[in-house]
Amino acid sequence: MDPLTLSAKLSPLLAEPAQVSVGDSERDLHAEDSSLFAPHRPDAVVFARSSSEVAAVVAFAAAEHIPVTPYGAGTSNGGKTIPVRGGISLDLSRMAEIRLLDTENRLAVVQPGVLRETLNQRAGPVGLSFPIDPGANASLGGMAATNASGTTTVRYGSMRHHVRALEVVLADGSLARTGTRAAKSSAGYDMTGLFVGSEGTLAVITELTLVLQPIPEAVIAVRVTFSSVDLAVRSAVAIIGAGTLPIRLELLDGPTIAIVSEHFGMAWPPGPTLFIELGGSVASASSDLETVVALVADAGGRHVAVERDPTARQALWRARHGVGAAMAARYPGHNVRGTDVCVPVSELPAALRRARDLAAEFRLEAAVIAHAGDGNYHLVVPVALGQPEAVARFGGLHRALVGDALARAGTSTAEHGIGLMTGFLEAEHGDLLSAQRAVKQALDPAGILNPGKIIAPS
Ligand SMILES: Cc1cc2nc3c(=O)[nH]c(=O)nc-3n(C[C@H](O)[C@H](O)[C@H](O)COP(=O)(O)OP(=O)(O)OC[C@H]3O[C@@H](n4cnc5c(N)ncnc54)[C@H](O)[C@@H]3O)c2cc1C
Repeated sequence: MDPLTLSAKLSPLLAEPAQVSVGDSERDLHAEDSSLFAPHRPDAVVFARSSSEVAAVVAFAAAEHIPVTPYGAGTSNGGKTIPVRGGISLDLSRMAEIRLLDTENRLAVVQPGVLRETLNQRAGPVGLSFPIDPGANASLGGMAATNASGTTTVRYGSMRHHVRALEVVLADGSLARTGTRAAKSSAGYDMTGLFVGSEGTLAVITELTLVLQPIPEAVIAVRVTFSSVDLAVRSAVAIIGAGTLPIRLELLDGPTIAIVSEHFGMAWPPGPTLFIELGGSVASASSDLETVVALVADAGGRHVAVERDPTARQALWRARHGVGAAMAARYPGHNVRGTDVCVPVSELPAALRRARDLAAEFRLEAAVIAHAGDGNYHLVVPVALGQPEAVARFGGLHRALVGDALARAGTSTAEHGIGLMTGFLEAEHGDLLSAQRAVKQALDPAGILNPGKIIAPS
């Protein structure tokens, strides 16, 4: 359907005609993500404001066989928000109401466009936080749709552990609720768990009931340098084995520390470095600190720096989260792209060694960041702009890293998701592909919801 006709048909479904846009700039903004996949414009962008508007738009799209690609804050990669078959980009950013903050049950009920940091600003004054931290200020709907996680996974897990219930619009435009506010349920198939991580391919999330966590009374950050990645990982394993339950346990390898330290003016000592955040009561955090300091000393850790001051801790984490920015500044004229494999933590030292070798083989620079507590690591790679040959080398490196992770009983993607990289899902779960296709067919028989993502068309 041409954009103007589509706009005319969508406008009556929305409170105001301005909620649908077919202008070039809006369509361009919703045409691409931060991956190397080619942009593709939607025919129209709809800014929904309520669940009933989402339901009406999806029902219309189902009747007309028009693709619908949900859009949160647009911080994801892998082509997930690219409307590869045109149609409607359904932007949920204006559904941004925090509907309930239930301190007794530690729950929040939010619309999908609420940003992670906004929820934390509201929950903080009552001593609660939403702990999943992907670095970017993503929308909670988008975070649920990608099963996001990040630096705090080692203690808190991923989105799947923090979504208690959902309201969704199914592919025929009907509204449905999954889960309850109760902490546990054995009632039938886990539909909440299925929709979390489904990348907008099975339903549109229109409301989330989220689990909040108490803010620890005391938080302490520790930075330690090692002479090798192996020793740093061994130390990380020992810290978890000792039952300290750190909030964050991150590793930057030697070359990466040098780049980040210079970019942020941190004067950190050279060498692979662990960043550890401990938290709890004042007594338990101090006791964990004692344990950690003893364990890192046993593993040959040097230059142990302890930060209790919130501003110093923030500067440390800003630098850790700024690896992409440091690489972008160092390599002008390049797009910085990332990989996201995860291996059993015992395999991490060998996997990181292999990753460095592979980057050299493919003649690509790389920063290496590992969520050392859970075996997930990212290569942050500058890819020369406008050079298809460099893009091809990055693709080769990405495939080689995935092959290596699968050979180590790991996964192709720990937290970013599959998006258009459907070959990775086939390589990882070929034996389950027909079951996954059957799920998609059952919930979205016309294939209108974010087509082309997760599972390649058969
Ligand atoms: C600097 C940086 C660092 C990052 N680090 C991490 C990290 O450590 N861990 C991590 O997990 N991610 C990370 N990411 C990726 C990104 O932030 C996450 O994938 C995030 O969850 C995406 O949320 P979003 O609101 O931007 O979603 P979008 O990018 O808008 O959408 C993501 C997917 O969800 C679907 N979607 C969005 N909203 C809905 C909805 N309401 N209903 C159904 N489907 C929906 C979209 O169709 C798309 O498939 C990082 C990104 C950046 C830029």
